[in-house]
Amino acid sequence: MGKDFVVYLQKCFGSVDSNLINVLTKHNENVARKLELANSQLSVAHSIEEFQQIGILVRDAWIEFTQSIYRADFVPNGENKPGPSDVKRMLEYTLRNVRQSHKYLLKMSKETFDLAIKVQHDRSVTKQMATQCLTVTGLCMALILDSMASSEMVVKRLYYKCPECGSIELETSEEWVPDFEGAFKVGKLVCNYCGWCYVDYAGEMKA
Ligand SMILES: [Zn+2]
Repeated sequence: MGKDFVVYLQKCFGSVDSNLINVLTKHNENVARKLELANSQLSVAHSIEEFQQIGILVRDAWIEFTQSIYRADFVPNGENKPGPSDVKRMLEYTLRNVRQSHKYLLKMSKETFDLAIKVQHDRSVTKQMATQCLTVTGLCMALILDSMASSEMVVKRLYYKCPECGSIELETSEEWVPDFEGAFKVGKLVCNYCGWCYVDYAGEMKA
């Protein structure tokens, strides 16, 4: 998985550290798959409709990507939480929690997302616009993951949205569950909307 995409990114960004590329492909297979598909379609695309398809794939990749890095607890109390496809605000809150300032990376990412929407709808879209949209997206995502990794924020989560209702407001908590031998520590993931709950029994035991 992800090999073609890695080769593709390496071609585009020969000077980018290969760790960046590995981080991106390992982080989220759905995102990598969408970008790979966009890349293979781009190589044979000639019509407006085919270029617009690249925009759709890249837009969806951004939505999936930001959902997987954003956490509801990045938003301070009292502020409205971004919706599940509000890529720009999810990016804003996520990057605000990264140790260093990422003003330009945030700006570039938002503009690249805007470009994806434009490529999707614009009747005068060109191959160059579609190429820019796809390649800069890969670069921005890799840089965002790298920034998060250096702030130790990036965690590969089993669920980043509710498998029942699609909500991105999943809350994590830890609790001790009594057992005849003592108690187990469990990690719980609860959906704020539908109540879906995932319990991870990987915790330690106390007597
Ligand atoms: Zn739910």
